[in-house]
Amino acid sequence: MSQDERSAGDLRNTGMSLKHDRTWDYELDRIVEAVEERDAEKVGLQFPEGLKRRAPHVADDLRALLPDDTRVMISGKPCYGACDLDTYMMRRTDVFAHFGHSPMKESEKIIYVPLFSNVDVLPIMEESLEELEKGDVGLVTTAQHMNKFDEMREYLEERGFDVHTRRGDERLTHEGQVLGCNYASADIDADQILYVGGGKFHPLGLAMEHPDKDVVIADPVNNVVTLADTEKFMKQRYAAVHKAMDAEEWGVIFCTKIGQGRWETANEIVENNENAYLLTMDEVTPDRLTNFGLDAYVNTGCPRITTDDGPQFKQPMLTPGEYEIAVGNKDLDELSFDTFHGTW
Ligand code: SF4
Repeated sequence: MSQDERSAGDLRNTGMSLKHDRTWDYELDRIVEAVEERDAEKVGLQFPEGLKRRAPHVADDLRALLPDDTRVMISGKPCYGACDLDTYMMRRTDVFAHFGHSPMKESEKIIYVPLFSNVDVLPIMEESLEELEKGDVGLVTTAQHMNKFDEMREYLEERGFDVHTRRGDERLTHEGQVLGCNYASADIDADQILYVGGGKFHPLGLAMEHPDKDVVIADPVNNVVTLADTEKFMKQRYAAVHKAMDAEEWGVIFCTKIGQGRWETANEIVENNENAYLLTMDEVTPDRLTNFGLDAYVNTGCPRITTDDGPQFKQPMLTPGEYEIAVGNKDLDELSFDTFHGTW
């Protein structure tokens, strides 16, 4: 398991879990309005994995508000990010609502319903002050806590910090937002960054991407303050790269999810390695690779599949950068975190 709603940094750890039994604003009025405006006959709903259980009830509530002949459909496709829109459903519905993620790319067709966490971030921020040096600080968070971003900034400013924020690139919707595959919002002029959010994956990526900065993690869901430590993670990646150095036949995965395709990257590898095979896949799981029987794989899709789930694959699974090291094109000390920029 990996990606934005799984394991570290997932919905369960960001206040959006069923176990917290929270309620969210599904913004059904926006969907109803769009149905009226477009005279829609078919409405598609897509939920992240952590919220799929709620989907039938949301569909019930929506149906009660819509004309009887409006068909409401629920996507059963796995979904871990706004990079992972159900394009099949999107093409076949008049209104398509994607829940739980902020837009990666706006489109008139899609209604994004972000479902912000309602957890209070200030108590854990207060604790995090002990780990921060007064002065310049970068502030980042995940989409789930974006509704509290101004509050976070004000809190720090009131305590004398000079808060630096930016919107990384077009893959990100908001200023200060980070994704599991994009930390460009932390390219700021400060030696320390405060990450407010759940899980370990995002701050790990942050620390890997910005090795010159201290990353303080204020996790408002698990109510804990920690410092990002990349050592264990690096060891795991070095081990995977070493194991892959003996590989003769490679599978190069091109992910067909709309926001995860890196065609040039995947093609460049197969063009330069006659023992590499280009595999096109939607969901990348250990089971799906077993039958190919290749020695090692390079994943050009979601980096979190490689880094979070890596140990679950029977053969080494590398990021494109790690592949370059394994085949001798780059030195081991060039190992870095795999990130995605842009959209589609
Ligand atoms: S590609 Fe990026 S946005 Fe998509 S699931 Fe992976 S980490 Fe999240």
